[in-house]
Amino acid sequence: MAHDAMVRRLGENGAAIRRFVMDLIYPEGAVCRTCGRISGGDVLCPECAERLQRDGGLFAWARDDLEPDLPAYSLRLHDGIARQLILRLKHQAEACAARPLADLLIPLPDEPAFPPDTVVTWVTMPESRRRERFIDHGRILASATAEKLSLSCRQLIVRRETGERNQASLNRLDREKNLQHAFDPAERISFPVLLVDDVLTTGTTARRCADALRRGGAQRITVLTFTRASRSGL
Ligand SMILES: [Zn+2]
Repeated sequence: MAHDAMVRRLGENGAAIRRFVMDLIYPEGAVCRTCGRISGGDVLCPECAERLQRDGGLFAWARDDLEPDLPAYSLRLHDGIARQLILRLKHQAEACAARPLADLLIPLPDEPAFPPDTVVTWVTMPESRRRERFIDHGRILASATAEKLSLSCRQLIVRRETGERNQASLNRLDREKNLQHAFDPAERISFPVLLVDDVLTTGTTARRCADALRRGGAQRITVLTFTRASRSGL
């Protein structure tokens, strides 16, 4: 096809331009976000949707206790289609990638149970990084979760601009230091909180956010991440 020849000439930027051209040819949502095949109007083609259901090894919500009173649930290993969707959401500002991830929340397991006054919130991103990425993926995942679980959603955590470094490049001790004074509660919290994030790696970010929520008065906090790194390192 003509656009393929054009993409070859454009070299490095070819993949981005190919996506752009495909978006022009096929209306939004017609192409699978992870394999690029025609999807019939959904974010994922049937094959990728099936792999997302099947892959990852976690068939129910898997639980870890980050602290004695801080359960963290995750839905998939950080691998395969789930990982690709998160990367698209986070680094390519494709908000629609949150939809198939949120679909994984249903059917709900018996535990955890969320009282109706639970508020869903997210790990607030530094403003500078939000501007860089054009998208606040945590907020998008939190609101998709709230919608699925019929709960309300709002920002409960304020992030200070501390000039902190990106967590992904740091080891566990440096992560702890990096985030020590990064979060504050946004309001007085007298209700259960569900803290949503994309991926659980060391759990440090979730712990620091839980500290801030507790300083605001929160007594019952549950963490939910869509994927998790392997068990080691938690
Ligand atoms: Zn696909």
